[in-house]
Order: sequence, then structure tokens, then C-alpha cells
Amino acid sequence: MQNPDNRSALEVARRSYRDISLYAPDRAPCRIDLSDNTSLFGVPPHALAALRAASEFSVTRYPSVYSGDLKTVIAEYIGVLPENVVTGCGSDDVLDSAIRAFGEPGDTLATANPSFAMVPLFARMNGLSVAEIRLTENQDVDARGFLGANADIIYLCSPNNPTGNAASPDSVATVIAGFDGVVILDEAYAEFTDRSFAREAATLPRLLVVRTLSKAFGLAGLRIGYGIGDPGLIREVEKSRGPYKVSSAAEQAAVRALSEDRDWVRRMVEEVRGNRGRFIDELRRIGLNPLSSDSNFVLVPVRNASQVARDMRERGVAVRPFPALARIGDAIRVSVGPWDMMQDALNALEFALA
Ligand code: PMP
Repeated sequence: MQNPDNRSALEVARRSYRDISLYAPDRAPCRIDLSDNTSLFGVPPHALAALRAASEFSVTRYPSVYSGDLKTVIAEYIGVLPENVVTGCGSDDVLDSAIRAFGEPGDTLATANPSFAMVPLFARMNGLSVAEIRLTENQDVDARGFLGANADIIYLCSPNNPTGNAASPDSVATVIAGFDGVVILDEAYAEFTDRSFAREAATLPRLLVVRTLSKAFGLAGLRIGYGIGDPGLIREVEKSRGPYKVSSAAEQAAVRALSEDRDWVRRMVEEVRGNRGRFIDELRRIGLNPLSSDSNFVLVPVRNASQVARDMRERGVAVRPFPALARIGDAIRVSVGPWDMMQDALNALEFALA
């Protein structure tokens, strides 16, 4: 038998973890951070008030088991019932729990390429294989490709990260209608577009729509995500997720945000939509060909994206480089915030390209 002292962490970890690396994005501080699609407009006022009052409730006790108060306001916000809602520690947690709930080790999850990079990781961490289905030439979901992939779970993202565009409702509906497994539809950026399947999810047996308060609601640091679906589906995700995932302070702030900050969020979303169009126009003016966007970020194909991102950082603006995206090539992804930040981003980009 091997000397127990000689067994490395890699040897004692699950075998399937050996070729999974730690997710470690470049989070070095930067004057203007347009790299992660979080809100650049500050904390919604009522959520902030709730956080300031957080010391008034007990932190010696556990939070609610499955965030019942939060489910109630989410249900009202979406137009479904509380039993159609599951919450989580960020939508990452809901996605991870759902994959674990509906996928057996050895099963296959199909996702688009390119799409949200964490999902293949969550699939592999739960023992699933990943099938990547390229987006169509106009960056839509390839419904036939998904249905022909022989997958056990299908993950769709609309608006899609990192391309920014919403999938056509027809393609999404075709996948949902033609698939006998669970479809997870990630709508993290739903507030920035008019298309959503969240209400429909409550009426369909195997569609889980996943949303977050990290983007339009500006609460990424509190880690709150949620899923909408049939009550039976929701219970399975909840089993997999486990109890006490949303902290008391986060739940209180989220309840206030969803009930009292909606107008604030709506105004901010309008500003993002305006600045997004103006930013795209300016990019075209300097000879670039950005993708159209239904979210709070814009994907801009550029040569040598990693170097461009480093040069922009030198000018105080962080963006996320994506080298060698399928069908697109190198690109940078830029979050959309107040216009002065976008002007700084344009200046930094012109510097990097010069
Ligand atoms: N889905 C998509 C498409 C995302 O872009 C992100 C954040 N980058 C998430 C889910 C996860 O967000 P959170 O865990 O903060 O809710």
C-alpha cells in the first residue's frame, strides 16, 4: 500500500477533477471595471437601506431555510406563484444545483458555443460530459443541432454571454417542444431585453428559467439567483441545492430591491440601452464591427484581444478578452455603464488599437 503521506491532493480528489482547473479570472483592481457585466450604477436605494439596517436583525441564527419571503416577491415580480421559485447563492448556484438534480454522472449536457463559460465547468464538476453546439452564423441557437445532440440536459442562454444577443423565441420554443429532458434557460440579462420565457416556465413541465439579481439589480456581491419552473421541478433543484443558501442580510436587501427599487432599475436599464446603442455607433465610426446586443455588454471582435485588453487596462479600463471564439475569432467584451465610462473605454480602445 502507498505511504499515506505521499498521496497528493490531486490523487485524493475525484479522478474527473484532475483536468479541471480552478476558475481564476483576472480580478486585479482597475479604475473602471467593465469586465464582468455587473451594474455600474451603484446599489439600488432601498436595498442599500436594508443593508444599512442589517445589524438590526440577528445574525446568530440561520436565515430562512429556502428564503420564503424572497420567493414571494420574486413570484410577484415575474407573475408566477412562490412554489414556482427556487433561490440560490447566485444563479451560479442554481445552475450547478439544477445540473446535479437532473444529470446523472455520465450523462451529457448540451450548451452553445460560445456561451456562458461556467456551465461546462459545472457539468464536469458534477460528472457530466459536455456537447458544444455552435451558434448559427447570426448567433442564434441552432435548434436542430441541440435536438440532434442526444443530450440529457440542454442549457440555453438568452441573452447569450458573451455574444450579447437574445436567441430567437422560435428557436428556443423549438428546443423546448422537441426535447424530453430538462431545458435550463439562463436569463441572467433578461431585464435588458423584451424577450423572456420566465412566466411560461411555470406552465411547462421541464423548463427551468434561471435569473439573477447580480446584473440589472446591482447586487452581485450579495449572491442571489433564482429559478422559475414547475413546482415538481423546483423541488428537485431545491433538494440538490440544500438549505440556508441565501444569507439573512442578502434576503432582506433583495426583498426591498424587488418590491421598492423596480422603477430605479427600469430607469437604469433605459440608460444602459441608450448608451449601448451610442457605444455601438461610436465603435462602428472607428471602423470596428461590434455584435448587436440585448444585454448590458457589447462584444467587439478585435485582433489580438488579450493584448488589447492589457493595453486598455494600462489606460485604466478593464474589459474581458475572449481569444478565438467559434465563428467570431478574438473579441473583447465591454460592460455598458454611464456614458463617461463608455467614453473612457472608447479612448482606451483607440489607444490600444493605435
Ligand atoms: N449566467 C450568466 C449568463 C452570466 O453571465 C453570469 C455571470 N457572469 C451568471 C449566470 C452568474 O451570475 P450570478 O452567479 O452572479 O447570479
